[in-house]
Amino acid sequence: MKRVYNFSAGPSMLPLEVLKKAQEEMLCYGDSGMSVMEMSHRTPVYESIINAARENLIKLMNIPSNYKVLFLQGGASTQFAAVPMNLIGRTGKADYIVSGQFSKKAYKEAQKYGDIKLVASSEEDTFKYVPRVKKEDFRPDASYVHICFNNTIYGTKYPYIPDTGDIPLVADMSSCILSEPVDVSKFAVIYAGAQKNMGPSGLTVVIVREDLLGGALPYTPVMLDWKTQADNDSMYNTPPCYAIYIAGLVYEWLLSIGGLEEMKKINVAKAKILYDYLDRSDYYIAAAEKESRSMMNVTFVTGNADIDAAFAKEAAKNGFMNIKGHRSVGGMRASIYNAMPTEGVIKLVEFMDKFAKENPKA
Ligand SMILES: *Cc1c(COP(=O)(O)O)cnc(C)c1O
Repeated sequence: MKRVYNFSAGPSMLPLEVLKKAQEEMLCYGDSGMSVMEMSHRTPVYESIINAARENLIKLMNIPSNYKVLFLQGGASTQFAAVPMNLIGRTGKADYIVSGQFSKKAYKEAQKYGDIKLVASSEEDTFKYVPRVKKEDFRPDASYVHICFNNTIYGTKYPYIPDTGDIPLVADMSSCILSEPVDVSKFAVIYAGAQKNMGPSGLTVVIVREDLLGGALPYTPVMLDWKTQADNDSMYNTPPCYAIYIAGLVYEWLLSIGGLEEMKKINVAKAKILYDYLDRSDYYIAAAEKESRSMMNVTFVTGNADIDAAFAKEAAKNGFMNIKGHRSVGGMRASIYNAMPTEGVIKLVEFMDKFAKENPKA
């Protein structure tokens, strides 16, 4: 068996320890006599799995007791609609910051449900930085403010948490959740698809402050009403059982290495190897502005589209997979989530250096 360094933006690498544990337990979980995939979700053994996953996520992220953790389906994209449906009812207005393709999609989706203001956007500058906003930029009667905390496609991340005063702040954290500690109390809602940094696709985590439950628009599908899901402990219907189980193993793995403080140290050092090299290099150019750089998705170009294409091809031949940039922007993107070992980044930089020497730009 030869495993590659997989730089995919998602679904992405999982910790080897997690995959091995899942392999060990694949045919028979504990003394249940069956795989987790075959279990009824309404059994004590499965309840212990989902409860442990929830408790461990609360511990890892230090989630205050006035928040609910929901394990849902439909991906982060479904939350683009669920967010307005659950929150906009108070005033019919919401404010959005657009810092990349996903926040733009969220902004567009929200327009179906109310009066949506675009507070700031970096689209004119091809999303290479995160807009700076002030409290005064928001409408005082906005029901909430929506941001995308880490912009997976462009490789940018908020270097700050916007101050929205009393207006609930909602953040899509799909591609940075669990990469470092965040002060959950600064956010009213955090949501994330699992497939970037938490587990397999099919699971979406929503962390919501309790006082925001119960105000969904009357036509909200019951499955998208966070209150229904909270009241039923994410088991209104069959939850994504196996994905929750794997996410639970990822949470255990994170706790075993010392939690998010430790994870952050590793991630900071790992990203620094790549960014330091990009800054030293006169062959590669980092795509994102320094202040807004993401620790999870590192985007760069050579300045020549043909060389970029050759790079991605040659990289794959050498075991560095999925390094081609998103189809909408081109160039290269190395997604270096929690499960990417530091060694993978060191070897990538060695390869980049070799490639640069062997492929002069003319
Ligand atoms: C991947 C991603 C999404 C889309 O997630 P799905 O689970 O595919 O719907 C949304 N937002 C961000 C920030 C992402 O990285």
